[in-house]
Amino acid sequence: MTTTNQVRVRFAPSPTGFFHVGGARTALYNWLLVKRLGGTFILRIEDTDRERSDEAWTRGILNALTWLGLDWDEGPFHQSERRPLYDAAVAKLWESGHLYACDCTREAIDARTKETKTPGYDGFCRERKLTPGTGRATRFRVPDSGITTVHDLVRGEVEFANETIEDFVIVKSNGDPLYVLAVVVDDIDMRITHIIRAEEHLPTTPKAILLWNALDEATLPLFAHLPVLVNEKRQKLSKRRDRVAVEDYRDLGFLPEALLNYLCLLGWSPNDDRELLTVGEMITEFRLEEVNRSPAFFDEKRLAHFNGLYIRGLSDQEFIERALPFVTGDHALWPANCFDAELFAAMAPLIRERIATLGEIPDYIKFLFADPFVIDEAAFEKAILRDELAVPILQAARDAYSIANFEPEQLKEILLLIGEQHSRKLAKTQASVRVATMGTSVGLPLFESLVALGRTETLARLDAAITAVGNAS
Ligand code: GLU
Repeated sequence: MTTTNQVRVRFAPSPTGFFHVGGARTALYNWLLVKRLGGTFILRIEDTDRERSDEAWTRGILNALTWLGLDWDEGPFHQSERRPLYDAAVAKLWESGHLYACDCTREAIDARTKETKTPGYDGFCRERKLTPGTGRATRFRVPDSGITTVHDLVRGEVEFANETIEDFVIVKSNGDPLYVLAVVVDDIDMRITHIIRAEEHLPTTPKAILLWNALDEATLPLFAHLPVLVNEKRQKLSKRRDRVAVEDYRDLGFLPEALLNYLCLLGWSPNDDRELLTVGEMITEFRLEEVNRSPAFFDEKRLAHFNGLYIRGLSDQEFIERALPFVTGDHALWPANCFDAELFAAMAPLIRERIATLGEIPDYIKFLFADPFVIDEAAFEKAILRDELAVPILQAARDAYSIANFEPEQLKEILLLIGEQHSRKLAKTQASVRVATMGTSVGLPLFESLVALGRTETLARLDAAITAVGNAS
């Protein structure tokens, strides 16, 4: 058994697309283990598939990991730069008699195996003693009998009969080493002690173990294959169907700590019913041995709920700082010179109570900063045009607000009285004033919003709404 300070884990993403939330969960579980036991977290970019890999995807992965706070101790190493190691391993395996060359075409194999029940390669070239070279793939000689056992911390002992494993290719006929080889060579070279990765890799694990043993390594690592993430229909999360990119969640205004907390619970939970865990608690409490085998439901609504709780846990100052990228720059719904940071700060506590993601903020405050101010047409029609009391109420509010003490309690009091004169409850009386001044029928509390808007602008908007009704009739 490894001693605690020797733990070495790796996170090994393939840079072929956006960084997937499943990848983030894998990285998190690796990271939590190292943070608790001490050890080394290695980042390895598996870019052997040259056609699908792209430097931009690698940058995206590094940025997303950094954003999540999942820092690494070594790397990033790129498989594309490690070819000499793979070639050396292949030479070693030739030497020890584990390999043979094969010139079978896919069609020839298919034609031969069509009739037999066993899928995969039939060992045709095993004893032909072909010399390796261009146009010939290199295959690994899998033992005919025996069992290869994966010691999996999540799944227990998973056994594979060797007779069901084909003699797999480790070097393609064009000379390129295959992924299964590169992973094993790297894991040996990097002295990895725990391979924690997605369940989809379990079927190739016996091949990895056979290769590992053939390369003379005394100690096999421990494995942990993490349960698959599914959507509400129990389908495996897919980038075509579901929102899976960590980058998307960041851009929508999810907080990294909320996402980490939620991801941590996808396949594991603490021993009581707590759901909100700090990173420190995750580190002390998370155990690979307690990870579930069954698929974990990635529920975006639940994640949003978590995010809302985390947002409400932020101090005023933290909230304003986190919100800043969403109210300035690309996310803003107004030109930079229309934004007033002080005004935003004044409204911030009210906004924080109402949102699940930071990306919702601009809609709440566009009535303050957008130029020109736009009223939602449907809301205008419903709350003003189709309400015969709207104009008298707007007019009365306009008159009273022009001389009132312009503070929330006072403004509310006035509207209450106006409502009473028309036998209306406050909520209904508010509706037309809200739409006229804030442009929508939902949003921040009306009276605080009017104060933020200021007397002059409030009166101007009330006037404009009254005029608009006149123009429409
Ligand atoms: N590169 C693989 C992936 O992105 C991970 C392989 C591994 O962890 O062994 O799915």
